[in-house]
Amino acid sequence: MPTTIIAGNWKMNTTLNDAKTLIANMKMRLEAISGIESVVCPPFISLAAVGELLQGSSIGLGAQNMHPEEQGAYTGEISPGMLASICQYVILGHSERRQLFGDTDDFVNQKVKAAFKAGLRPILCVGEQLQERESGNAEAVVETQLRGGLSGIGSPGNLVVAYEPVWAIGTGKAATPDVAQDMMAHVRSVLASLYGADATGISLLYGGSVNPGNTIDYMREQDINGALVGGAALNADSFVEIAQKAAEANA
Ligand code: PEP
Repeated sequence: MPTTIIAGNWKMNTTLNDAKTLIANMKMRLEAISGIESVVCPPFISLAAVGELLQGSSIGLGAQNMHPEEQGAYTGEISPGMLASICQYVILGHSERRQLFGDTDDFVNQKVKAAFKAGLRPILCVGEQLQERESGNAEAVVETQLRGGLSGIGSPGNLVVAYEPVWAIGTGKAATPDVAQDMMAHVRSVLASLYGADATGISLLYGGSVNPGNTIDYMREQDINGALVGGAALNADSFVEIAQKAAEANA
């Protein structure tokens, strides 16, 4: 069975002090929840400080992006090795990176390979835009992103995949659980074509306007093993409640 994961993507929010306060406000309540893994992904500048506050904690820590090269003349970038000494997860291929910063499937693929090499657990994000869904191409788009992002990767290791329809991110227009499940079944079948039986162990997260009120509905779907949460992860009470609902749905 895949691990149930509730991951919070803080995006470009929180100063160092805000980040410390946010984790302090949810740490003990998240640790008290059993049966799921909670993960927080603060901005780079707060990773080390949040990591220190999470020493010995069951809460996972992740970065929101990284460069595939290990070191060198890449001004402003952060390498896999730098992250591996601080955190366990890294979000790769988020739609904001793809849309705003030009991350291609090939570049995402280099990052996924580098993450595995560094011992990081990649959360590979895939998802279609509204016009791609409206033109009936959603499954094909997601499949291309998956196959591209995982090209040349022979074993899924501890891969996590997040399906985040772009039209549902930060819009309050969450995909219905049915729509999310249909795509997750497709994601699972593409992963099965790549990895056979190993695909059954890959955690598949839904992302896109997840909140405490809709979490249980997603978690009840067969191929949804958790959530990647944006806006609601910036509020300690909301994020804790989402994690609690996920645990409740699992029990
Ligand atoms: C995200 O950006 O990963 C996300 C899912 O955002 P939100 O929950 O705000 O839609």
